[in-house]
Amino acid sequence: MTMLKEGRPTAPAHVNKEHPDPATATGNRALMLEEPLIFEIGSTETTGVDFTPVDKPASRLGGLERKRSIGLPGLSEQETVRHYTRLSRQNYAIDLGLFPLGSCTMKHNPRLNEKVARMPGFADIHPLAPVATVQGALAVIHELAEWLKTLTGMAAVAMSPKAGAHGELCGLLAIRAALEARGDARSVILVPESAHGTNPATAAFCGYKVEDIPATPDGRVDLAALKARLGPDVAAVMITNPNTCGLFERDMKAISDAVHAAGALVYCDGANFNAIVGRVRPGDLGVDAMHINLHKTFSTPHGGGGPGSGPVVLSEALAPYAPLPFVEKLADGSFALVEEETAGEHHAGSFGRMVAFHGQMGMFTRALTYILSHGADGLRQVSGDAVLNANYILRSLDSVLDAPFGGSGPCMHEALFSDKGLAEGFTTLDIAKGLIDEGFHPMTMYFPLVVHGAMLIEPTETESKAALDQFIMALRSLAERAKAGDEALKGAPYHAPRRRLDETLAARKPVLVWIEEALAEAAE
Ligand SMILES: *Cc1c(COP(=O)(O)O)cnc(C)c1O
Repeated sequence: MTMLKEGRPTAPAHVNKEHPDPATATGNRALMLEEPLIFEIGSTETTGVDFTPVDKPASRLGGLERKRSIGLPGLSEQETVRHYTRLSRQNYAIDLGLFPLGSCTMKHNPRLNEKVARMPGFADIHPLAPVATVQGALAVIHELAEWLKTLTGMAAVAMSPKAGAHGELCGLLAIRAALEARGDARSVILVPESAHGTNPATAAFCGYKVEDIPATPDGRVDLAALKARLGPDVAAVMITNPNTCGLFERDMKAISDAVHAAGALVYCDGANFNAIVGRVRPGDLGVDAMHINLHKTFSTPHGGGGPGSGPVVLSEALAPYAPLPFVEKLADGSFALVEEETAGEHHAGSFGRMVAFHGQMGMFTRALTYILSHGADGLRQVSGDAVLNANYILRSLDSVLDAPFGGSGPCMHEALFSDKGLAEGFTTLDIAKGLIDEGFHPMTMYFPLVVHGAMLIEPTETESKAALDQFIMALRSLAERAKAGDEALKGAPYHAPRRRLDETLAARKPVLVWIEEALAEAAE
């Protein structure tokens, strides 16, 4: 049995004193658990397991033996399990409720995907296993690749990038390799105002100069401004379509034609492919490279920041520059993993490797399961339902919240609102914090930047009408409170383990390790 250092903290300082609920001795409110750090509950003096101390002669360890205790807290197995289970209950999850984050596509992760990914033939293999022993796994990668090419109307696909942003890097590296191959390295990437933040970040990371292209008042790329800026120094344009205002870029073909005429290439951020899958093929719109986030469109889990997967489809022009390795189907029907460039082969211009192996196998099995369980017709319905659900939210709330582009017709997969019309002193942040008390994760806020106090909501196709109605009711009530100037809203959340954090301090002075002195210093 382990002794608790000081016992669990009682009625912690952050427990809300103004709120009518009496503060409890533990700081818990029903299942809203107050959980200290493991260092605070476990003592370094005790251990949860009985090991007989080993008396190793120092000589056998060559002077590498530990000089002092490493100070890990000791807990019993049950205490440890409870600690992590309690922490896990402080997480919001898609299995707990609707996740309205815009741009993130937080859809249900079907259990069938999980079952297939756990089959030992997929789960227990190793990336260094001889290729002859993993033909089934290579067949899965190949079949998924074929689906992605068919759905996008593109010539090739690089499967190895591990997330959307990583896919952007892959696309730009292929674009650079293609331009350099024709002796025309260029220095500028054009990025519209409505772009996702990863787009300019990726371009800058690749060493390109990034220039903005303004948006029109209806929230789309200004085609005339784009055309005016094209020239011999522009390597590529990065366009998110559907864009981050939840709108389809109707001029996409005209944009691609103009970009190609100026000798540049078109990168499309395909994170929002779920809005058009089965209906629009980016290849038909003149796109040269586009990443697909399997953890968005194809329902694989986002996890705690990973593992994601971001295959990049490539046009005829970029296919020769795709990264290694890739899976190739041979004439006899077997599969090879092509690891090196071969002179004279179609991939002789490959820009190299992005990752050690072939990509996220666990995500490939899940994504292919999702695709096969829907079929081509089902995927078409996915985009239809995603758009229908977003429009249901847009039209259910546009009488209480300002919808800046609501007048220009239906939205795509996400609904965008602004803070216009809230009472003096009330902000988007107040509504976001209020949603926590209503049992929802907040929506995406203050993004996209083209809208003041933006609230971006993407319900996805997997939510039922009943779930949407409940969310709409919660958001409507918060919007009404913010418009009426209900001061109590400024104190939200009242029912979360933590209230309003000092976000500046959290970003500027994060305390990421357990060092008592560092914590004391940060507290000052
Ligand atoms: C999510 C997203 C990205 C980045 O994708 P990650 O997989 O998170 O790296 C890029 N662009 C848009 C529009 C996105 O929504």
